[in-house]
Amino acid sequence: MIRRGRGLRKDDLEQSSRFEGKDHLVTVGGLEFKLLKDAGSTLTVTCRTCSVAKAALSGVALHAFYLEHVGAHTAPPPAPTLDLEQLVERVRALKGDELEVLALVVDGLERGLKVYGQLVVNGDARDFEAEALQEVRDAAIYAAAGIVRRRRLALAGATP
Ligand SMILES: [Zn+2]
Repeated sequence: MIRRGRGLRKDDLEQSSRFEGKDHLVTVGGLEFKLLKDAGSTLTVTCRTCSVAKAALSGVALHAFYLEHVGAHTAPPPAPTLDLEQLVERVRALKGDELEVLALVVDGLERGLKVYGQLVVNGDARDFEAEALQEVRDAAIYAAAGIVRRRRLALAGATP
């Protein structure tokens, strides 16, 4: 579990290591990193949550990267820079179907709030890009399945 709300020290970073196939994975401070050997004796480290990668790491620099990166994920979210009144004014300028579309997006945010709690993008362990790709793939499957069904039913209705 990622702790938040205070600075991180080296001792705060619990570390474990495992292999998944050929991939060497290290969990540090609740985040999982993939390690790849560079050409020399250094490593390229990739955060599996946000895909940030840094090459040529070893020793102290490697630990500094872990500290800094886990700290970035666990830092409290910054105060919103969004002006709520300006947002309300922008929404008021929308009309008709634009409001219907916006309401659907808000529905999704409200559902996410109920299921996952408040969205804190830095500390969220979900891989947002991977989740989006899976959802797009699923949407393509459902759309294609719907087209196939519609065509079949149309053909069935057209034959005597
Ligand atoms: Zn990360």
